[in-house]
Amino acid sequence: MTTAETTQPAAGQSFSELPLSPAMQATLQQLDYLTMTPIQAASLPLALAGHDLIAQAKTGSGKTAAFGLALLNNLNPKRFAVQALVLCPTRELADQVTQEIRRLARFEENIKVLPLCGGSALRNQATSLENGVHIVVGTPGRIMDHMERGTLKLDELNTLILDEADRMLDMGFHDDIAFVAKRCPAKRQTLLFSATYPEGIAQLAKQFLRNPQEVKLLEKHAGSKIRQRFYEVTNEDRLQAVATLLKHFRPVSTLAFCNTKQQCRDLLNILRHEGIQALTLNGDLEQRERDQVLIQFANRSISVLVATDVAARGLDIANLEAVINVDVTPDPEIHIHRVGRTGRADEDGWALSLCSHGDRRRVAAIAEAMGCQLTWSELGALDAADNSPLVPPMSTLLMLGGRKEKIRPGDVLGALTGEAGFTREQVGKITVTDQNTYIAVARDIARDAVRKLTAGKVKGKTVKVRTL
Ligand code: ADP
Ligand code: MG
Repeated sequence: MTTAETTQPAAGQSFSELPLSPAMQATLQQLDYLTMTPIQAASLPLALAGHDLIAQAKTGSGKTAAFGLALLNNLNPKRFAVQALVLCPTRELADQVTQEIRRLARFEENIKVLPLCGGSALRNQATSLENGVHIVVGTPGRIMDHMERGTLKLDELNTLILDEADRMLDMGFHDDIAFVAKRCPAKRQTLLFSATYPEGIAQLAKQFLRNPQEVKLLEKHAGSKIRQRFYEVTNEDRLQAVATLLKHFRPVSTLAFCNTKQQCRDLLNILRHEGIQALTLNGDLEQRERDQVLIQFANRSISVLVATDVAARGLDIANLEAVINVDVTPDPEIHIHRVGRTGRADEDGWALSLCSHGDRRRVAAIAEAMGCQLTWSELGALDAADNSPLVPPMSTLLMLGGRKEKIRPGDVLGALTGEAGFTREQVGKITVTDQNTYIAVARDIARDAVRKLTAGKVKGKTVKVRTL
């Protein structure tokens, strides 16, 4: 194996230095992708030259566009056959990847990207496949299903992507990945993307990649933009301390990491007791419930999302003002990864860690991995002088009817800013799913907005709306 780069390349290189078609370059401009992210700058020249790759970089670093451009570069839009396959650990991630590839593929009229995951009817997916698809993005189980039924044929595949490979291994997908990879044409390009680099990744690469180049961006972000603070607590006070931090720093959106599901549940109870709007993500939720949690957090109507590392990995959540390490993780790399979720895109971010005496050894390992001195602060010194409740700025309305009813965000925005008389600023993110539409509105107009939407019409029809 050759290690191409292990250091951080200069960020800010332009895409125009890459051998991409003018149409592709124009699309990138349209998307406002002006400079490459570090992982893109490190991996794209190698990927476009046809190498197999192992690429490691933290969540939110732009890995999707890195492999998206590589697979589009290998694609012949005139051939209606599956030429690229992206394996993802979960439906949410597959959906995010599908969206991003579709955006990147806009330069060509007719590139079909199909998500194939559980939770949607096999037969509908089979029909879509029959109609001709260029790129398939899906979870290993469902992809296998279609291969076994003969509805997914891979003889013309030229690019195989393993996205979030570490997480797929965590979730026990090794054998499924092997099943799929063994049935792909031997002559192909394989790119493996991962946020961390556990033992299993090297094994996987050895089995399914050919002379891979390795691109690792271990971020040492003791970061300019991320302000890290460590607080000593006793285990008894740990959960209450989270509320103290939130009331002092008053971040709009906080991701709180716990090491176990039970800890997540306990924290949720305490935060709710304190009147803080919090939800948790865990494997026990149904898919629709998970979607709802993420939508409400992303549109700023929930202050805190409580999660384990497994539940939170890979999710693209922008604008996090704070990350709280409720528990210290035994793995320094995971700590760096957690902390790296805040302070993105030139925003400041807080990374706050609660450590008991028993966590000392873990904390020392973190300090060493980050190559920096840790800043210890006193919880007692934090004032909760501002004792007003921590209230999220937005509130989410649930409207029945979504893509199936051909609802678009503009229809809802039109209804709210038209007859209902609200301003554009009072309306936040509008998310349309298959069955429902989620509308973020300024918290103080929520009631009024429900009333006016119910009394009026959206797309010429009366609608059912309630606050979530
Ligand atoms: P990762 O897979 O590494 O977690 P994503 O691919 O989800 O990260 O990218 C995170 C966000 O950054 C996405 O919203 C994406 O649209 C955006 N992004 C990716 N590349 C660029 C770029 N070169 N310039 C600006 N934004 C980008
Ligand atoms: Mg990703």
